[in-house]
Amino acid sequence: MRVLIVGAGVAGLTAARRLAAAGHAPLLLDKGRAPGGRVSTRRILSASDLLQFDHGAQYFTARDPGFAAAVSAWSDAGVVRPWAGRFASFDSEGREAVNDAVTRWVGVPGMSAIGRHLAGGLDVRTGARVTRLAREDAGWTATLEDGATMDGFDRVIVAVPAPQAVPLLDAAPALAAGAARVPMHPCWAVLVAFDAPVPVRFDAAFVLHSPLGWVAHDGMKPKRGRADTWVLHASASWSTAHRDDPADAVGPFLLNAFADLVPGTLPLPIHLSVHRWRYAAAELPAVTGPLVDRTLGLAVCGDWCLGNRIEAAYLSGARAAEAVTG
Ligand SMILES: Cc1cc2nc3c(=O)[nH]c(=O)nc-3n(C[C@H](O)[C@H](O)[C@H](O)COP(=O)(O)OP(=O)(O)OC[C@H]3O[C@@H](n4cnc5c(N)ncnc54)[C@H](O)[C@@H]3O)c2cc1C
Repeated sequence: MRVLIVGAGVAGLTAARRLAAAGHAPLLLDKGRAPGGRVSTRRILSASDLLQFDHGAQYFTARDPGFAAAVSAWSDAGVVRPWAGRFASFDSEGREAVNDAVTRWVGVPGMSAIGRHLAGGLDVRTGARVTRLAREDAGWTATLEDGATMDGFDRVIVAVPAPQAVPLLDAAPALAAGAARVPMHPCWAVLVAFDAPVPVRFDAAFVLHSPLGWVAHDGMKPKRGRADTWVLHASASWSTAHRDDPADAVGPFLLNAFADLVPGTLPLPIHLSVHRWRYAAAELPAVTGPLVDRTLGLAVCGDWCLGNRIEAAYLSGARAAEAVTG
């Protein structure tokens, strides 16, 4: 079967791999520049260095046995490594070490290695934003932003954040309504490099009662080269309240919030940029799994239908592939 998959994040790529392994012909279309979606690494050429930052997903865990087996294969292929960093959490009382037995995995040499690996051998077309999907007698037709059309697909999987799925679901109003019930909040990310190490005794911290929700010494992840690069994520509530603030105000404000977590003074920033993830996470993820219309040969998936994490994206994509072919 010819299967069109809209979105080449972890969900779409996983669906495509399942379909290809079962002898089908998946085609992935993604509006971005590279596969991987929110599992992404930004590379920036500064005056002296090539800096890199995992500005989206920070790490992932594997609880489901099927996903754990896939992660083990990624590890054997050298795509991921455990991140045995020093994790802390800040609340209004101060800092505490996080002593849990959780294995936190990261892509190496950056999170984007995961999307690159999953895309291997697949037909992935980037820079291709789908604006409309229509079901006709001869199958599904996709219209792209530039007006081009692609037709003759037997099945379609829509693997994008829920709010971005809604306008693609004219042919299936019940599925559109299901996706519309899952709002997603933004996340402001600050990418900062310093001219000297930040004087803290943690590599990453979960933060409460602050405009920030998470800070991480990106350069201390495995195979990064120990650069003094940090990624700061604003909390869901701050990001929502400041969704439309200008980027040049957000960066310095969140850097000051980071300074509040650091004893002494922050070293000099030699690079500061920001990225706004418009749809970072579902406010209340659905727990239903993919939305499926078997008569139409359509499934809608993504992390939001199982729980806001890379593992959820993977499982939702695998289930969507089963649903459209089963
Ligand atoms: C700031 C941040 C921090 C996070 N931290 C973690 C973490 O530490 N651990 C963890 O497990 N998870 C984390 N996540 C969540 C994780 O990134 C997601 O769960 C996962 O990447 C979602 O994958 P997906 O395939 O469902 O969606 P996405 O990765 O969003 O992929 C969807 C793809 O669809 C494309 N697309 C959208 N609309 C269209 C269209 N109309 N036409 C064509 N293409 C389209 C997009 O370009 C994108 O590539 C984080 C996310 C963010 C943003």
